[in-house]
Amino acid sequence: MAMNDKSPDHRTRGAKRLFTAALVLASGLSAMLLTSCESIGGKYGPGAGVFDTVIVDAGHGGHDQGAKSVSGAPEKALTLDTAHRLATVLRGNGIRVIETRTGDYFVTLGGRVAVSNKTGRAVFVSVHYNWTKRRGAQGIEIYYNDRRSMRLAANILQETLGVYHANNRGIKNQGLYVLRHNQRPAVLCELGFVSSPGENRNLQSADVRQHLAEKVAAGILAEQAGRIP
Ligand SMILES: [Zn+2]
Repeated sequence: MAMNDKSPDHRTRGAKRLFTAALVLASGLSAMLLTSCESIGGKYGPGAGVFDTVIVDAGHGGHDQGAKSVSGAPEKALTLDTAHRLATVLRGNGIRVIETRTGDYFVTLGGRVAVSNKTGRAVFVSVHYNWTKRRGAQGIEIYYNDRRSMRLAANILQETLGVYHANNRGIKNQGLYVLRHNQRPAVLCELGFVSSPGENRNLQSADVRQHLAEKVAAGILAEQAGRIP
């Protein structure tokens, strides 16, 4: 009886030691896995994951002119034109594209996000041009609002910067409506300032917008392929 009394206790202590060893091993393994996941995603996070569809969102439209350019077409016309070019390039690369607007009419922000949220295996890419009172402000910046959209933003930025040698204003985390309410990885591209006389001259050119569309598409395709920018 004495032995029987003692041995379960002994076995329990042994099992405890084994359990502790297993825990240490498991936490070490998960730390290693986390480290390798970080390096797979790079400093831009895990990426957008698997997608075969792009929601192309032309900013503004209808009574919402967007930014007023220093000369030439307003933002709503430039975004529609660029978005349509982007859709064409993506379709040519076998990507399914859904456009949130295809003409000069108003679409609510909620309506734009709803299209995205009801579509599976998709990313949302919104096209805008920038404006500020300061005429000297120039360059491209890409907004995102969650970690899985960060690498898509960085991939698009990397591709587009060379189009007209724009200032690199970076990728920026901001809770813009169409990003914050989006259930898909989502970015908003500010592809240059129509308030800058020099930059606006570039952006009013159809050739430059075609080149921008091709480079936004290249960034999206790089993200789909898992490129770490
Ligand atoms: Zn805009």
